[in-house]
Amino acid sequence: MAKYAILSDIHANGDALDVVLEKCRELEIQNFVSLGDIVGYNAEPRECLYRVRDLNWIAMVRGNHDEYAANGNTEMSGFNPVAKFAVNWTREQLTDEELAWLVHMPFRSTIPSCNSTIVHATLDSPENWGYIFDVHHAADNFSYQFTQVCFCGHSHVPVAFAKKPITKMNERLIDELPEWVYNSADPDANVDFTRPDELTVEIKAGFKYLFNIGSIGQPRNRDPRSSFAVFDPAARTVTRYRLPYDIASAQNKIIDAGLPERLALRLAAGS
Ligand code: ZN
Repeated sequence: MAKYAILSDIHANGDALDVVLEKCRELEIQNFVSLGDIVGYNAEPRECLYRVRDLNWIAMVRGNHDEYAANGNTEMSGFNPVAKFAVNWTREQLTDEELAWLVHMPFRSTIPSCNSTIVHATLDSPENWGYIFDVHHAADNFSYQFTQVCFCGHSHVPVAFAKKPITKMNERLIDELPEWVYNSADPDANVDFTRPDELTVEIKAGFKYLFNIGSIGQPRNRDPRSSFAVFDPAARTVTRYRLPYDIASAQNKIIDAGLPERLALRLAAGS
């Protein structure tokens, strides 16, 4: 049975995307799933768009940056001026046909034959672009999750939850899975770069799972490495990979393009 590379929030970061695709080649993965936000923030929207268009996509959903860039939404609710600037800049870099491709995918979709749903933001109202950070947000999502596994992105902060099939007295129904993030659940803790770059969660029968897989092109969990996941339905595992890439190169492209310096600085901080 096939393995799937799950990619999210590439955000026009070609340097980061290249490292992820190289890893996928090394892992001999030929099937891809996109959780959206291919463009926005960084300086290579066209390069990233063409690199991903050629991949063998099994399922794709749209992200809010993809939608705002393509639909010319001037309001862009929830966006700060820097994010708006980047969306408007992105729109100018792409043709109408390229912009249309960015929003040809639905808000939510499924990975066929894998009992899995994908969404950029949340399943309860994907078009409202809400965020999942804690067990309460996860509970809302699980109410609308009719498959065993759901993958989401959007916050750029990896987090995972499991919902038990049944609970005993005083037992919580939904737990966060610390093995998905190791130490970054604590905002005051230092990121431990000495831990392994592969984090694997086993999919147990009867449980439901929700994975935010983190961002390829603009991580915000204070770990600037690119994050993506591999779903192996036969082995019943989901593995998150964390990969270093040439951040200085991506930063130079941002500055050269005339995009705000803040977008370059945040890549190094993972913020
Ligand atoms: Zn995003």
